[in-house]
Amino acid sequence: MNIHEYQAKLLLGRHGVPAPTGVACDTPLKAKDFAQELFEQGQRRVVLKAQIHAGGRGKGTFKNGLKGGVQICGDAEEVYERAKKMLGGTLVTNQTGPEGRVVSHLLVEAASDIKKEFYLAVLLDRATSRPMVMVSTEGGMEIETIAREKPEKILKEIVDPAVGLMPYQARKLAVALGFTGDMLHSASKLFLGVYQTWWENDASLLEINPLCVVEQPGGKASLVVDAKMSFDDNALYRHPDILAMRDLAEESPLEIEASKYTLNYIKLDGNIACMVNGAGLAMATMDIIQHFGGRPANFLDVGGGAKKEHVTAAFKIILGDPNVRGILVNIFGGIMQCDIIAQGILAAAREIDINVPLVVRLAGANADIGNKMIAESDLKVASASSLTEAASKIVQAVAQSPK
Ligand code: GDP
Ligand code: MG
Repeated sequence: MNIHEYQAKLLLGRHGVPAPTGVACDTPLKAKDFAQELFEQGQRRVVLKAQIHAGGRGKGTFKNGLKGGVQICGDAEEVYERAKKMLGGTLVTNQTGPEGRVVSHLLVEAASDIKKEFYLAVLLDRATSRPMVMVSTEGGMEIETIAREKPEKILKEIVDPAVGLMPYQARKLAVALGFTGDMLHSASKLFLGVYQTWWENDASLLEINPLCVVEQPGGKASLVVDAKMSFDDNALYRHPDILAMRDLAEESPLEIEASKYTLNYIKLDGNIACMVNGAGLAMATMDIIQHFGGRPANFLDVGGGAKKEHVTAAFKIILGDPNVRGILVNIFGGIMQCDIIAQGILAAAREIDINVPLVVRLAGANADIGNKMIAESDLKVASASSLTEAASKIVQAVAQSPK
């Protein structure tokens, strides 16, 4: 699960990490009123930031022509006019795809007088299976670009999860970014707070890009200017406050429907839908579809203990994707019994018209019962005894089907 920038800044604030004072606003009037407060407090400029779960906002463009999902304004009237264009507008960035995202909230905050931009992230390192803090002097650029063009500018510190990020490690990172004196101390403290925020909230990623050195009335300071945070879904039950931050408008409707039935569904851009039990088997199924020249329309793991209703819901969800032109069901019965899958498919077929080729491969527990149920139904279905056969059959059927 992902959250918005303003929510990530809120969590960071709870761990003492400095970010600009801001409020998320859903109407131009609220944006103007809060901006007015900031101006009255002596701020010279206020920044409006489109809250969508995608980066690249600064360089993005609204479909109504307005350039930039991050706008700096000098007075409250300007805030009002820009907010009117941004709220309800569709912002297209290099991460949203051409359809863009509708902006329903703006983060209104005191604009920072930025002197330097850095990159900072905490994530899990697959190679060492440990938390990793990553920094770079090339802030503001996407990390993929830095990794490609200037990999030597990325510094990594591996953390022992039992003790957490150590103060000496935080100082080492701060030194690498060129901090000295008081700033070295405050930047190290900021790194420790960022790590704590990541750890305490079971985040999978916390990315601060840019982390800035800013000029403030009291002198220079380090400040979080942008923050992106993703969580491990399996740990969300421990964090009802974070679960409450979920923004369904940012998620695909089919994925939301799937989560109601605890199905692991991820929509992809191909046209062969898959229904599989077990994440590993689901990935192997997707691979073999690709191997035969097809493209999977989704990843779907119905899990081990699914009931008939879950299977029916899963079937409806995969068919809810208009790109789907064929379905491959691949079940290896263990905890999941194949006759339950067959019941689910038949129930779904009674409720909706399955008008695309369907290939079913059932193996393992109760496979014979399941196969018999499907064979005796009036459902048009090709069965297969191996995954290879199933995959090649569905790829062929889709290639030959009209449309
Ligand atoms: P992103 O484009 O979605 O990553 O959004 P960011 O919040 O990172 O903003 C993009 C860029 O806009 C930053 O790298 C900064 O250069 C600039 N920016 C954002 N907020 C401010 C601000 O308060 N003051 C100034 N001067 N620039 C800002
Ligand atoms: Mg950014």
